[in-house]
Amino acid sequence: GFCSQTTTFHSLRPPVPLPPPTMPLSLSSYTLSLLQHSSTSTTTPFLIDFATGRRLLYSDFLRQTKSLSLSLQASFPSLSKNDVALILSPTSLHLPVLHFSLLSLGITISPANPLSTQSELTHLIRLSNPVIAFATTTSSHNLPFSLPLGTVLLDSPEFESMISDSVIESDCKPNRVVNVNQSDSAAILYSSGTTGRVKGVELTHRNFIALIAGIHHQSRIEIEENAAAAEPAVSLMILPLFHVFGFFMMIAAAAMGETLVLMERFDFEGMLRAVEEYKVNYMPVSPPLVVALAKSEVAAKYNLTSLRLLGCGGAPLGKEVSQRFTAKFPNVEIVQGYGLTETGGGATGMTGPDESKQFGSVGRLAENMEAKIVDPTTGAALPAAQRGELWLRGPTVMKGYVGDDEATAATLDQEGWLKTGDLCYFDSHGFLYIVDRLKELIKYKAYQVPPVELEQLLQSNPEIADAAVIPYPDEEAGQIPMAFVVRKPGSNISEAQIIDFIARQVAPYKKIRRVAFINSIPKSPAGKILRRELTNHALSGASS
Ligand code: ATP
Ligand code: MG
Repeated sequence: GFCSQTTTFHSLRPPVPLPPPTMPLSLSSYTLSLLQHSSTSTTTPFLIDFATGRRLLYSDFLRQTKSLSLSLQASFPSLSKNDVALILSPTSLHLPVLHFSLLSLGITISPANPLSTQSELTHLIRLSNPVIAFATTTSSHNLPFSLPLGTVLLDSPEFESMISDSVIESDCKPNRVVNVNQSDSAAILYSSGTTGRVKGVELTHRNFIALIAGIHHQSRIEIEENAAAAEPAVSLMILPLFHVFGFFMMIAAAAMGETLVLMERFDFEGMLRAVEEYKVNYMPVSPPLVVALAKSEVAAKYNLTSLRLLGCGGAPLGKEVSQRFTAKFPNVEIVQGYGLTETGGGATGMTGPDESKQFGSVGRLAENMEAKIVDPTTGAALPAAQRGELWLRGPTVMKGYVGDDEATAATLDQEGWLKTGDLCYFDSHGFLYIVDRLKELIKYKAYQVPPVELEQLLQSNPEIADAAVIPYPDEEAGQIPMAFVVRKPGSNISEAQIIDFIARQVAPYKKIRRVAFINSIPKSPAGKILRRELTNHALSGASS
C-alpha cells in the first residue's frame, strides 16, 4: 500500500506471470507467440509506410524476417550470438524486419539516431563495440570508420534480395538453430544525453519479455471489458524507432497484432492527415505534440474521430496542457507514462479512464515493479507524500551500462535498485508525480527551483508558444531562473510582462529573473528540452 508508514512501494496491479527465467526464449519468439494467439490474421497489415502507402502484411513480415535470418547466416558465417549490430537508419518498413531477424539470431541490436555526427558515433561505437552496421546510403556517410564485418545498406538491391521469398524457396538448409537465453542482451539503446554523455543501456531479452507481458496482459483485460475493441487497433508511429519509447512500442504493436503506420519524417499536418486517412486509434507521443495539438487551429480541419488514446511519455507534461487538450478533444484519452531507457519502457502508466484523469501524474507503478523514494542527502527511504529520488526495482531494469562500469556502479546498487535521478513523490493512492530531474534543479540562494514547474506555467500563457527555463549564474544568488520564450505569432509580450505573469503565481524565490526570446526551443528527437544547449547559448551572450 501507499500508507504513511511504508517505504518500499509495490505495484498495485496484479502480478503478471512471466516465463521461467532459465527457459531459453528470445524476445522475437515470445512476441510472435503472442501474435499467434491474438485475433490478428496474417492478411492484416502490420506496417504501412505513410509516405508511399506501401504495406507489409503480417504474413509478409514473417516471411521477410525468416528470409533475412537465413541470408544473414549465409552472408556472414562469423556473425554470432551476442555480437552487436549498429543500426543507423530512419524509420522504414525494413527496420522491424531487421530487428526481429537479429533478435531471433541472438544478435544484440543497437539502434542510433541516423543523424548522429561522426564524433557522436565514435563515442557510441566505443561503448558498444558493434561488429556490423546496418545503414542507408545517406546515413552510412556518418560512420567514422568501417566495422569488422562492414556495412549492409538497407536501401540497396542486395538487401531486397536478402529479404525476398526466393531465399526461403531456394535454400533448403534449415536455419542454423540459435538458442537464445532470456539473460542474453537483446538491445543496447542509447540514453538521450540530456544530463551528460550518452550512455549505452544494455537490456536483456528478459527485460523486454517482462515489458511485453505487462502490456499484453493489460490489453487483454481491456478487450475483455470492451468487446468492440477486439478489432486490431491502428497506431501511428511518429516517434523515432531508435529511442526506447518508439523501439518498444514497435515491438508491442507486433505482440498485439496491431497495424502500425510509420512516418519517416514528422510533420504536423502530415500526422493529422495520417490519422484521418488510416483511422488511427492510438499514438505514442511526447509532450511537445500534446502542446501543439492543444494550441493548434489547423487540427479542426481534419476528421480525427477515430483517435481514442494518446500515450504520452519521455518528458514532463503539464497539468494545464492536459486539461486544455482534453477540453479540446473530449473523446481522446491522454494516458501518461514515465520511464527511462534504463527500464526499457514505461515503469509507470495509467490504465482506464479513472487513472487517466489524474492530470499532472505519470500514473501508477507498472506490474511487477517496486519503488522507493530516497532522501538524496541522508539516503533514507521516505513514506508517501514526501519528495526524494525515485529508485526502481523489477524485471525490466537494465543489466547495466556497456563500457562504463563506473556509471553502472553509481546507478545500480547491490540489491538491484536503479537510481533514476528524478525527484518524485507518490500520493496516497499510488500515483507518481515527477517534480524534476535532481541534476536540473536551479539553486537560487538556499532554495531549489524545478524548471519544469515554471515551464508549464509559461506554456499556459496564450501568448507563449513554447518555453524553457535554465539556471543562469548570478553572483549574489548563485543561480537565477532564466526563461527562453517563443512568442505566439503576432504576440509582443515583453520580458517585464512575462516576469510579472510568473511572479503572480509562484513563491518569490521561484520568480523568473531574466528572459530571452528565441525562435524555437531545442529538443531531442524524443521531445526533451536540451537545456544544456540553452545554457551554453545564454552564457555565450548571444541572447542578451
Ligand atoms: P541521459 O540519461 O543520457 O542524461 P535521459 O535521461 O534524458 O538522458 P532517457 O532515458 O531518454 O534519457 O529519459 C529518461 C528520463 O526522461 C527520465 O529519467 C525522466 O527525467 C524523463 N521522463 C521520462 N518520462 C517522463 C514523464 N512522463 N514525465 C517527466 N519526465 C519524464
Ligand atoms: Mg537518464
